[in-house]
Amino acid sequence: MYHIMKKILKMSLFLTFLAFWGVGNPAVAANAHRIVIDPAHGGADGGVKITEKINEKDLTLAIARVLYAELSREANIKVLLTRNEDKEVSAEKRREIINDHKPDFLISIHVNRGFAKNASGFELYYPGFGRDEKGGRKALQDLKPEKVKHINEAVRMAQLIQRNLDSIFPRQGRGLREADMPVFEGLSAPALVIEIGFASNPDERKKLLSEKTQVEIAQALSKSVKSFYR
Ligand SMILES: [Zn+2]
Repeated sequence: MYHIMKKILKMSLFLTFLAFWGVGNPAVAANAHRIVIDPAHGGADGGVKITEKINEKDLTLAIARVLYAELSREANIKVLLTRNEDKEVSAEKRREIINDHKPDFLISIHVNRGFAKNASGFELYYPGFGRDEKGGRKALQDLKPEKVKHINEAVRMAQLIQRNLDSIFPRQGRGLREADMPVFEGLSAPALVIEIGFASNPDERKKLLSEKTQVEIAQALSKSVKSFYR
């Protein structure tokens, strides 16, 4: 019994590993676009508390897993999750996983919280222009061409996401901003952090907890990524 269990455990670990690295689809092209999906928080780092038992970390993982499954079906996309279980991943480890994968795009998923109960909708952030020696925001002409390209791509993806999420959060796109997020540090790829819905808003909390909405959010993101690479 023990031996069999061990075998099963080994097998399931192997399968988890396969799933984690997104090689489940043998048809994935060698030159496929590499997408890293980062379900924020995990383990002891729960993020925003949503209910007594559910935290932001659970929702980000639920959405990320569906998004992963959706994108894994695409032959021109190779997809990776920074975590596929409820475990804490430090900011350094996260950056290591992301950079090791040399992503063509990083999407990090969070759930928002506001001070006001009526705050609602979704927000998108892309890596900023960076700071110059005096601590001011770098000017566009001082950016390397590659950085400008990454920002342009992030903006283009953000526009697709805004359009596709609008059916779930009608007219509640709260815009696209640049921000120095820890997950962006040292990253050389287009990237977005998406803060989906407000756990502090009772209506949105209810929505976010619904499995149906989680799937719809993931599908809206997957649709955006697919049209980006079409
Ligand atoms: Zn968060």
